[in-house]
Amino acid sequence: MTNLPVQTKTLDLIGNTPLVLLDGPSKAAGCEIWGKCEFANPGASVKDRAALWIIRDAEKRGELKPGGTVVEGTAGNTGIGIALVANALGYKSVIVMPDNQSKEKMDTLRALGAQLVTVPPTKFADPNHFVHTSRRIAEETENAVWANQFDNIANRRAHIEGTAPEIWEQMEGRVDGFTCAVGTGGTLAGVGMGLKEKDEKVRIALTDPHGAALYNYYKNGELSSEGSSVAEGIGQGRITANLEGAPVDTQFRISDEEGMEWVARLLREEGLCLGLSSGINVAGAVALGRQLLADGIENPRVATILCDTGFRYLSTLYNAEWLRAKDLPVFDWLGSASEE
Ligand code: PMP
Repeated sequence: MTNLPVQTKTLDLIGNTPLVLLDGPSKAAGCEIWGKCEFANPGASVKDRAALWIIRDAEKRGELKPGGTVVEGTAGNTGIGIALVANALGYKSVIVMPDNQSKEKMDTLRALGAQLVTVPPTKFADPNHFVHTSRRIAEETENAVWANQFDNIANRRAHIEGTAPEIWEQMEGRVDGFTCAVGTGGTLAGVGMGLKEKDEKVRIALTDPHGAALYNYYKNGELSSEGSSVAEGIGQGRITANLEGAPVDTQFRISDEEGMEWVARLLREEGLCLGLSSGINVAGAVALGRQLLADGIENPRVATILCDTGFRYLSTLYNAEWLRAKDLPVFDWLGSASEE
């Protein structure tokens, strides 16, 4: 018998991701900062979990029938998860994405056999927004369901039933804080609820990028934002159904520069190649660790999410020209190649 994980079904590869102690962030915070390795899912992001729970839920409710189609609007990662799960279960997938997301995500979706529809990035109120477009396509397609990740709470159940108990077990029941950024809110609300079920005292923090409205909402009840961010997959302007009742105790706002600094350090110092939402989450986790220490919690232990792989952003976050165009610092080791 081996102690190494063995699965008999490919879908069982989703979840049960490793948790890793992050050295640099722990030193910066003065306490333990742990990262949940969601890039280790088959679709290389945290969104495989939501995709699996949403599709299983649609099957259970009898809405998704053999040979059916799953339609979703997404920044990309949920689409990749849905395409993989749909393939494994014999469904088709149609994925609607704003066309300002990374080329790698679009190429990946095409490679997986999803039908990709791109739309211009617009505000949520615009009827052509990717979410509304995906709902319309689902309504117009025979034998199709709309995954509706933002307002379908099967999404956060993936984290109440999966991610949260995994973190609790991996940290042997000693978790003082958890934080992450919000796209749909499934991860923050679900892990928050799941950890509070174990211990009401676990401090749950929102880590918001600039340009998102939740920092102000949790601080003073106002949905309003300042600035902007190039981080993909995060930055919410409304209270989604997944966010309703999220047990948020405190909030941090993190700039792209701070997030990118952690992206660079995690790559160079710890050999982890991640996307910007992971860097922003780690910056938030360091802030939460410091806050817990300042409040007199001894040796606090904080967990956060390493959301997706950096290989998905080679043409953006890891590309000197793109970084310069966005006025972001260029990593030393990328600088010279394309400088002219
Ligand atoms: N990071 C990345 C890279 C994502 O794609 C997403 C999902 N949109 C998130 C973070 C946020 O996760 P959630 O939707 O659960 O809030």
